[in-house]
Amino acid sequence: MLLAELISVGTELLMGEIVDSNAAYLAQELKNRGVFIQWKTIVGDNLERIVEAITRASKRSDIVILGGGLGPTDDDLTREGIAAVIGETPVIDEAYLEKLKAFFTARGRSYPESNNKQAWVIPSSEALENPVGTAPGWFVRVPNSSTVIVAMPGPPREMNKMWAEQVLPRLNLPSSGFYHRTFRTFAIGESHIAERLAALTQSANPSVATYARRDGVHVRVAASAATLEEARALAQPVEAQVQAALEGHIYGYDDESLAAIVGHLLVKRGETIATCESLTGGLLADELTNVSGSSRYVQGGAITYSNEAKIKMGVKAQTIAEHGAVSRETVLEMAVAARTQFGATWGVSTTGVAGPDISEGKPVGTLFVGIAGPNGAEAYALPTAGDRRTIKERAALNALGQLWKQLTEQVKA
Ligand code: ATP
Ligand code: MG
Repeated sequence: MLLAELISVGTELLMGEIVDSNAAYLAQELKNRGVFIQWKTIVGDNLERIVEAITRASKRSDIVILGGGLGPTDDDLTREGIAAVIGETPVIDEAYLEKLKAFFTARGRSYPESNNKQAWVIPSSEALENPVGTAPGWFVRVPNSSTVIVAMPGPPREMNKMWAEQVLPRLNLPSSGFYHRTFRTFAIGESHIAERLAALTQSANPSVATYARRDGVHVRVAASAATLEEARALAQPVEAQVQAALEGHIYGYDDESLAAIVGHLLVKRGETIATCESLTGGLLADELTNVSGSSRYVQGGAITYSNEAKIKMGVKAQTIAEHGAVSRETVLEMAVAARTQFGATWGVSTTGVAGPDISEGKPVGTLFVGIAGPNGAEAYALPTAGDRRTIKERAALNALGQLWKQLTEQVKA
């Protein structure tokens, strides 16, 4: 079992001024490769405490990964910390210094001497190129030990690139033995899923875990073994059980978003879609168009927030007067209007109450979704909850989910 430990360096992080997204990214990257993580540390820009954190980590973990504190200023102390822990003295790498100076000259800037420490190396360190910034990373093999200490710059763009291109290949991880698959579900709550999967979630390998996400509950099956093939074989019967237990609720796997799945179905059927949104204010069209290639099936959309706009789009004034803007009747006419005005196969509409105030005497979270298609139009009440933004986001996903259900049920029928 390979153990990694993450240390994020920076007072900004410690004080909560920025969120430690680098550590979250790295933890996922490592977990997906079967490396275990038992500790994460955030430490301020203080040499003594950085040294303490590295000392502790390198005693109990195989791979110690530091992020941040590689800049040129006095409070960037990661290099000093590593050098102190392994008892080596930094020297300037003349070749790297030339590169640094060239970097500045190329941008028409004078070279500040304070930058010299970005060209530091210690005998046990290898400098890692940073093609998108100035601070190189360090890959350190601790003498007389199997421990590796890695230091990468704090800016996520620089860190991600260095991780993928420089660090991962050097770590030589036994990537083969870990298999995982995520089942993405719609319209079933976490507790219902837990009930259906109760017999499976106790096991450690393969493991089954549920995560409530904004687009529904995700169920992840993971297994580790000596090789990827063995791990896959170990997971296979459990995957089959999960698939059977959640039949009808699984819309996709791994990274497939609801919008991508819906898009895929539309492309396969040679169909198109248009939207008419009130409550979601464009978020439904946003979700749909986040998918690359969506121009093949998204015809267009309207945000009809006021009654006048709804009427202009094609909703009857009388419908709104009789039933209200937040009603089955109105959402139905909105869906039909989207379909006919844009000449799409499917028209999808939303109306509801995002809050925090109630509207037309209807409670916060009220949501009606309309779907108009080749075989007529249907309205659905799909109430949701949360603050204003959450309600809007969930409403867009509920509308997509409802369309997904309709598209897949038609296939079966
Ligand atoms: P620089 O050369 O830019 O100073 P650095 O390696 O010294 O890089 P820091 O000074 O610690 O890194 O951080 C620079 C910026 O990178 C921060 O202001 C922040 O925007 C981002 N950053 C640093 N650490 C993290 C982290 N753990 N998660 C997300 N963003 C981070
Ligand atoms: Mg810095």
